[in-house]
Parts: sequence; C-alpha cells; structure tokens
Amino acid sequence: MNDTNLAELCRLMEVDSRTLSPDAVWLSGQQPEYLHLRSVGALALAQELALSILCPECCSESIRPEPSVDIADVACPYRAYCMDCGWINLAAVQAHNWQLQPHLLARWLAGGLGLLARYSVEVVIPDVLWRLGEIEHRRKRRTVFFGRRLAVHADAVASRLSQLVAPGAEVIITSSDIEPLLLGALDDRRLVPLRAIAHIRKHGFVIENLDAFLSGSSTVTQTTETSLRLIHTRGVALVGGKEIDLSPQMYTFLKVLEEADGDEVHKRFIAEHLGIEASTFRTADIVKRHKQVYQTFVDKDDKGHYWLRPEFITIEGR
Ligand SMILES: [Zn+2]
Repeated sequence: MNDTNLAELCRLMEVDSRTLSPDAVWLSGQQPEYLHLRSVGALALAQELALSILCPECCSESIRPEPSVDIADVACPYRAYCMDCGWINLAAVQAHNWQLQPHLLARWLAGGLGLLARYSVEVVIPDVLWRLGEIEHRRKRRTVFFGRRLAVHADAVASRLSQLVAPGAEVIITSSDIEPLLLGALDDRRLVPLRAIAHIRKHGFVIENLDAFLSGSSTVTQTTETSLRLIHTRGVALVGGKEIDLSPQMYTFLKVLEEADGDEVHKRFIAEHLGIEASTFRTADIVKRHKQVYQTFVDKDDKGHYWLRPEFITIEGR
C-alpha cells in the first residue's frame, strides 16, 4: 500500500490546484490511500466547506454541506439536504475540501534525509521549489532541493537554480516525471524521482537508494569541451561538455558566421540566409532559446554586425 500512496501523492503534487473536492477523494476508489496520506499529514482538510458535493446516499444529487445542529454528533458534525434523500449526516472529511501540503512534504523529505537538525527548509519558489539543505556524497557537497510541477516551471526553476548552485552540485528530488525534463531548461541538473527513493511509513518518509542516483551515471558529462565541431554532424553545440540542441534557425545563424570565418557579418545577410525580411529580423527571436550558445560563441557590435568569437573558428579550410 505504501507505493500506491506514494504514486498517488506524486500524481496529486503534479496537479495545478492544491485543493481537492471531498468527492474526488470518495469517488477515486482510493479512499484508504487518501486517508493514510491525511494521517501522515501530506493532505489536510481545508478550512472551508465544499460548496457542493455529490450526495453519498443516492450519488446523483448535489448537496451543500453545513454545520450540523446536533453538535453532540462528533463523528458527523456536518449535514446537507438532499432533494431525494432528505437530511444526510456528513463527516468532516466528506464536508471539507482537502488540501495538499507540499511544504510539509518538503519538510518530511528533509527529515527523511536527516537534514532538519542542521538546516531549515527554505522556500525558493513558492509552491514549486524548496531548498532542504546540503548533503555530502563522496567528499562532494550537494545542495538538496525538492520540486514539484517542474515541467511547467522549468524556466523559472532553472533561472533560480543558476543563481544558487552550479550544475552538478545539486540534487533535485521531484514528484515530476523526469523524462520530459531531460529535454528542457533543467537538462543539466541532477533530477531524482521521489518515487524511486522514498517510502511512506507511519511517521513520514524513509529515504532509500539516493546514493545510487548520486553515484550512477547521470546526464552530467565528464568532458568540458566547448566547441562547434558537432554542429554539422549532430546539430548540437558543445558548451562545457554539454550537448545543446540547435533549432534550424540557430544552426543556420551559426553556419553563416562560421562560413565568414570570423569576419563580421551584417544582419541583413543573416536574415537573407534565414529567409526572413531584413526589416523584421530580430536576433532575439532566434537566440531566445539559445542564450547560452549565443553568449558563448557569438559577438556583435551596435551596427548590426555579428561574428564568431575567434577561439571557436575552426582552422580547417583556411
Ligand atoms: Zn441523495
């Protein structure tokens, strides 16, 4: 049951809204899992009552929970009137909305990693990214983060991370699916799926296998080469050993500069090669997804000239 809990928790963590209707819980067919998640605190009941729920008796009418008049009824402190069934008594878990507690989850994770004694959990991006502390692995310090909905927030997360920690010195534990992230702005970061390392136990998380993710081969490559030598064969630029995919436009842009062999090229000429009207040509449109490549390899003046930085001009053909 623990793994089902965790899978369901990860799924909930990736949903936009943090609020769940009580119906969603009762109709999910996974009521025991939700109750368990509530008992460990990953889910809590929200302050407000649900505005409308499905009548649990007839399952066809919508009813609106209200406080019960019989305050002595501890098990069912709420009630609602159904057109078909009359007054229905409701437990708190049937009347209140449920709320996901991602910050608590981040805290447990920190607890499971033994970090709470030395670090406090810090919000990096509200509701998305938390900094849990630092761990040491094979004499290397790594900053541990927890993130949710990373695919949606990839750019924001990448830009905050770049201010906080160098690629390879971080561990980002996440409820998100990892695969789609490997193609986005977080492709140079070490991402660890929560499901692969955590188990929900009675009092919170137990963490296992994190070591395997830290020592295993990751997307971080060992070489530090920075060059354009693979742009024609593989369509990628190498920056610090990392392969960066180029859009067709960025490829053409670099190719034009490469063919100029370091000489300045006016943007009119580049626009022509790209099949763009010179008057509407804006470099920003082409380089916005390739800022790092652009800043690494290209230089320009304020008269609309661009050229390849001399250290990246290949000697061949000269
Ligand atoms: Zn009813």
